[in-house]
Amino acid sequence: MKMTRRSLIQKATGLSALLALAPQLVVAEEKRRARGGDSKAAAAGPLGYPLVDPAGNAGKAVNYVKVHADLKDAKLKTERQGMAWDQQNCANCSFYKDVGSKDGGKVGTCTIFANQLVVEKGWCSSWNKKA
Ligand code: SF4
Repeated sequence: MKMTRRSLIQKATGLSALLALAPQLVVAEEKRRARGGDSKAAAAGPLGYPLVDPAGNAGKAVNYVKVHADLKDAKLKTERQGMAWDQQNCANCSFYKDVGSKDGGKVGTCTIFANQLVVEKGWCSSWNKKA
C-alpha cells in the first residue's frame, strides 16, 4: 500500500485525536469500574452499608450512640412524645427500617443517615416515636 502525504496526515490526525481522548477514556474507565463497585454494594443491599460512627461528624451532630445506655448528656434523657427516655431507641423510631443483622446485632437504615446503618438499640436526639 502506497502511503501518500494525505493518508499520512490523516493517520497522524487520527492518532493525535486518540491521544487527546486518552485522559477522558481513562476517566470513563475509572467511572465504569466505580459503577461496578456500586453494583456490588447494591447486590449486598443495605446490609452492605457501614455502621454510623458515633464519633463522626454526622453521629456527633445528633448525639448518636450505638448503645442507648452510653448517652452521657443527662439533659437529653427526656421524655419525648409521651415515651420515657429509657424506652426510646432506634427500633421504635419512625426513621428506622429494620434490614437484618450485622456484626452480631440487629441493624436498620435511618432516614437521617443516608447509606449507613444504625443499631436497633441505638439512639439519637432526632428520635421520633414510630406511629
Ligand atoms: Fe435511631 Fe431514629 Fe436517631 Fe435514626 S433518627 S439514629 S433511627 S433514633
